[in-house]
Amino acid sequence: MALVNEHFLKLPGSYLFSEIAKRVNTYKQANPEQKVISLGIGDVTQPLAPVVIEAMHKAVDEMASESTMRGYAPETGYSFLINAILENDFKMRGVDLDADEIFISNGAKSDTGNIGDILGVKNIVAVTNPVYPVYLDTNAMAGRSGIFEKGLWQDIVYLPCSPDNDFVPAIPSEKVDIIYLCFPNNPTGTTLTKKELKKWVDYALDTKTLLLFDAAYEAFITEDDVPHSIYEIEGAKKVAIEFRSFSKTAGFTGLRCGYTVVPKELMGEDAAGKPIPLNQLWRRRQTTKFNGTAYIVQRAAEAIYSKEGQKQIKDTINYYMENARIIKENLEQIGLKVYGGINAPYIWVKTPNNMLSWEYFDKLLNEKQIVTTPGVGFGKSGEGFIRLTAFGKKTDTLEAMKRIRM
Ligand SMILES: *Cc1c(COP(=O)(O)O)cnc(C)c1O
Repeated sequence: MALVNEHFLKLPGSYLFSEIAKRVNTYKQANPEQKVISLGIGDVTQPLAPVVIEAMHKAVDEMASESTMRGYAPETGYSFLINAILENDFKMRGVDLDADEIFISNGAKSDTGNIGDILGVKNIVAVTNPVYPVYLDTNAMAGRSGIFEKGLWQDIVYLPCSPDNDFVPAIPSEKVDIIYLCFPNNPTGTTLTKKELKKWVDYALDTKTLLLFDAAYEAFITEDDVPHSIYEIEGAKKVAIEFRSFSKTAGFTGLRCGYTVVPKELMGEDAAGKPIPLNQLWRRRQTTKFNGTAYIVQRAAEAIYSKEGQKQIKDTINYYMENARIIKENLEQIGLKVYGGINAPYIWVKTPNNMLSWEYFDKLLNEKQIVTTPGVGFGKSGEGFIRLTAFGKKTDTLEAMKRIRM
């Protein structure tokens, strides 16, 4: 029989969302007359922008004719999309990148997971706590995390984020090789200012640490001193890979498109200490294991960069951020301590009376018929918090807040 990758056997199982579903279903079965509202979903609910739908219809028609049909896409993306990205996501923010530093993909979840393919197993990895679980689980699968014990991976360095440090992680006191940073942050909804992110870049330059910067929520930034790209910080091209996604920016969770930036200046090293460009390794990885994002989807992504497209996606983001404002204000008015919701569609709420995350989850489900996400599901430092999302319908969000206030 084939041997399995035993690192998979160390994974604790995707307990969080299945446990939420189980508790919600139990409640619904016992109380079929009650309308349950979910503020727990991490998925968008608003339709795609009209420019996106138009672009896809047009691309579908091209596929119907011999002279315009497209077969395999270039593995790293069509230049029409890469050029739109370079111009709009970077040049307009003062960042110059080359076309061969952008790698179009089917999303940031797979890229943040797959990036480990080009990195050695012995690297010491640091993550914030709480954290997006993909970073941890993919490192565990590769054998970089050790064993999972009492809620912690033994070989991972955790950087706690809490009200005590305003959710700004402290620079690790021990030497690490790779650090995942996600700002604006899922799940806490908090972010870093330019000054704070600069500390991380300077530290990485000093210590030759690789930063894996997940900017999936950059489109939700409303404050001026918050960087949209890590490359807005001088020197970052030497230390950082950046992940972007159209999922939250433009509602592409079901279409699938994202991209990863690997600057040519960015080096890793071999066992002998010889510098190796990570751009070349990622190109090799993608051209071997990935066969490109669908032409139709890349045309859809391109469409959001037109003037009309930018306005349309901004309208949807504003719709979600209005929900975030409604949630934040209402919860503050009833005396809860609330974080996030200004530069991200997530609101991170301290439970009242030091309740555990799951206790408060159950209370809101049973007494207010509201589904949330227990903070402890994102790591030990999330205990005593719940996460609410702004991705629901406005009417549901308002109704949920009315119930909470009663
Ligand atoms: C939603 C999300 C992504 C985007 O994932 P896709 O695969 O592009 O849909 C990436 N990182 C974080 C932290 C997210 O919450």
